[in-house]
Formats: sequence, structure tokens, C-alpha cells
Amino acid sequence: MSIENSIPRVRFAPSPTGSLHIGGARTALYNWLAARHAGGELVLRIEDTDLERSTPENVAQILDALRWLELDWDEGPVSQVGRAEAHAAALEKLLESGAAYRDSATADDVKEWKAEHGADRGYRGTPSDDGTGAVRLRVPDDGDTVVNDLIRGEVRFPNRSYDDFVIARGDGSVLYNFAVAVDDADMGITDVIRGDDHLSNTPKQLLVFKGLGIEPPRYAHVPLLHGPDGKKLSKRHGAASVQELRDAGYLPEAIRNYVALLGWGPGDDETLLSTEELVKRFRPEDVGTSSAVFDEKKLRWMNGRYMRELPIEEYQTAVRAFVEAETGGRSLNEDRFAFGCEIVQEKAQTLQEVWPLIRFLFESPVKDEKAWRKVMKGDADRVLTEVEAALIEVPDESGGPNGDGFTVVAIQAALEPLPEMLGLGAGKVFQPIRVAITGTTISPGIFESVAALGRDETLARIENARAKLSQA
Ligand code: GLU
Repeated sequence: MSIENSIPRVRFAPSPTGSLHIGGARTALYNWLAARHAGGELVLRIEDTDLERSTPENVAQILDALRWLELDWDEGPVSQVGRAEAHAAALEKLLESGAAYRDSATADDVKEWKAEHGADRGYRGTPSDDGTGAVRLRVPDDGDTVVNDLIRGEVRFPNRSYDDFVIARGDGSVLYNFAVAVDDADMGITDVIRGDDHLSNTPKQLLVFKGLGIEPPRYAHVPLLHGPDGKKLSKRHGAASVQELRDAGYLPEAIRNYVALLGWGPGDDETLLSTEELVKRFRPEDVGTSSAVFDEKKLRWMNGRYMRELPIEEYQTAVRAFVEAETGGRSLNEDRFAFGCEIVQEKAQTLQEVWPLIRFLFESPVKDEKAWRKVMKGDADRVLTEVEAALIEVPDESGGPNGDGFTVVAIQAALEPLPEMLGLGAGKVFQPIRVAITGTTISPGIFESVAALGRDETLARIENARAKLSQA
């Protein structure tokens, strides 16, 4: 059985009881890819029947997260609560045909029935005389309800052990599995792609389809995500919601790529595949059966790869929002900002990482005590004296990001010979420069950093560091 045989109409059906998490984002992505792959349609259905936990804020957040991920839908959002009339009509149909009946048995009555018939035996009720009570769907006594899952293969559920289950309460309010099946039927859904925590709901939904006399969709149950420690994915594993990933400076295209590979794909989770390529290749039947591991470290790495590929203007625009959050929007020297962005484009793995790396270009270095203790000792003063002398030799003419002759090439030519000249390892020479001008041991390339900072500021900071060293 393959999704290729017909034009799929799929749905993403989040419950708005929280924000969109990485697992939900993957379900949304797989549905979106399945639809786009085959020229089908994606319906967005908001399963808001849990009135206590569903909030308009959560709905707004989910839509926002989907839009930010650039996963567009063709129909919806449709509110499940808003479909009450359709649910009532389907209920009526089942009652009329006898596929469902009203049963006034109480929970205690059911318990008693089970005590008599055995705990493994599904409850079978008796239609009430007065037309009151909960509505139960009739479940056959024989045979199995079979889920032909695109991912898991054939899964059988023995009918005998299933209760005639309640599909609506006495007051007419419908239950979850009934609403889902009726919605999928009414919406003409051909393929249900969802987390395999829903596999146990599927036989009930299939029985509702059968009662309605409607051909059910195909099902593809995707294994749940786990953290690197093998436990079910949760807060403990770091940024878990799309909102948090966005705030942490991840790019939507990197998230799409990484998340698509969680359970699907060429076998590892480091393959760079453009969204176009994902659309071309994705088929739900190719999703694996073992649980996939969400590892934020790997997403980080992949995000870094995508950041490198961004055109420089796009990169700057993306970074700017993060910088503004840190600086309160105060204006920065534009040329210096542009150059700063350029020199960290290969290094930063998230948009959030950029500002800490280039901050030294706009503010006096914040002294990192640990870095200072580690680096500013031994030969550090001798090194900085030589560095100063070498940099003073760089001709003061036009060129370089500050127009003061401090080009990356000229600085490299001046500093590169120093380790050999001083008989020291490269780290012993370049780390003191780094700490002197940036305050820390983590910065963009040293020649680029010096060029970006410019002649006067670099020399002043080195002077300053030497003064501190002599006081120590
Ligand atoms: N509303 C369910 C959830 O958020 C999904 C139901 C379905 O896909 O059938 O887990």
C-alpha cells in the first residue's frame, strides 16, 4: 500500500493545551511533506474539545510556530468544537442504523458486568428503554480490528476485548475518538500521519468508520521522540518548543532539515537536505519503526551549516533582531556591525551566539577572570610588548575595515611570524592578544578581530592589559 496511489489529503490536528513542541512540529512537517510531495492538501484542525486546557493563546502560538516554520496549510484552522453539529448528525446516523445505542448502565453496573464475564471481556450493554444514557458503539464479538499501518505493518486488535465504548455522554457531548473519526471522515482525509501514542486509539476510530459505513483513511504512526539519554523527550533535554528554538536563534530551514531526519531519511541525522529535496523524497511509508533521538547538539551543528549558507544581507537581518534584544536597540556603527557579522558567519552556530562574539567591537571588553588567570601569565607581558611593536609597524594608510591600514592581510603579515620569533607556541602568542582585546578566549579569528577593532582601539586595549599585568 502506498500513498503514491492517490492524491493525499492529510491533516495536522494539534490539541491547543500547550505550545508546539518538537514532536508536534515533526508530525506537522511529515504531514506537510506528504501533502507537498504528492500535490495533495493539508488541513489544519484544532482539537480543542478539552475545554479546560485549550486556550486561544495556545492556538495563536501554534499557528505562529507553524507559520514561522513555513509550514503552510490549505484549509483551516478548523475548530473541532465548532463541528458540534456534524458530530451530532453522525451520532444520530449511528443511533438510527443501530450501530450505536443508548445505555443507562452506570460505572458500577459495568463493573458488575465485568466481574461476571471476566475482566478481559469487552463490556456489552443493553439499550435503555427510555432512550436515555450514554451512547455506546456496538463492537462485534468476533474477529479483529486490523490497522494496516504504513509504518508498523499489520497490527491486530481482538474485538472481543473491546468494550462497546462510549462515543457520547448522556448530555450529547461527544468523546475524543468519535470526534476524530467523524472529522477525518467528513474532511475526506486519506492519510493520518501522527505519533504512535495514538496507535491504541486507532481501532476505536476504525470501528466508528465501520459504523458510519465510510472507508477509513490509511494510518502512519510515527515512533515518538526520545532524548539522547533514551528517555521520552521532555523539558530536561533542552529547548523543546518551537518558540524556544526560535528564541535561541535557530533557523526554520535548519529545524525542518533536522526534524525531518528524526526517524526518516538516508540513515544518519547529519545529512543536509534542502526543503525542496525533502519534498521530493519524503514518503511516510519510509519512516522507520524505532524511536528517534532529538539531540539539540546536532541541531546546533546543522544550524551552523545553514547560517554559513545565508547571503550576507539576510544573515545580518537575522542577527540584528537578536542583537537589538541585547543592546536595547541602541544604534551601532553599521560598517563595524556588517564586518563583525561577516567574520563570525563561519563560527556561530545560532543567531544568539553572534552578539557575544562581536560585542567587544562595540563595548570595552568585559574581563573574564578565568580566561585572564589562564592566559595572562608567564610570557604574556613580553608577548604583548612584541605584538604592540609589530602592530605599530603596520603602515598607517587607507584600507581595512576602519580605513586605517589595518587590513586583515597586513595584520596577519605582522603577527604570524611572532610565535617563531619568540620561540613560543601559537596559543601562547595569540591567546593573550585575544584576552587583551576581547576580554575572553573565545572570539572571531584574531587577525579579523584586530582589523575590525582598528589601530587605535587595539593598541589602547593592549596597553591597558599590559598596565594591568604590571600591577599584578
Ligand atoms: N490532537 C491529537 C494530539 O495533539 C492528535 C490527534 C490525531 O492526530 O489524530 O496529540
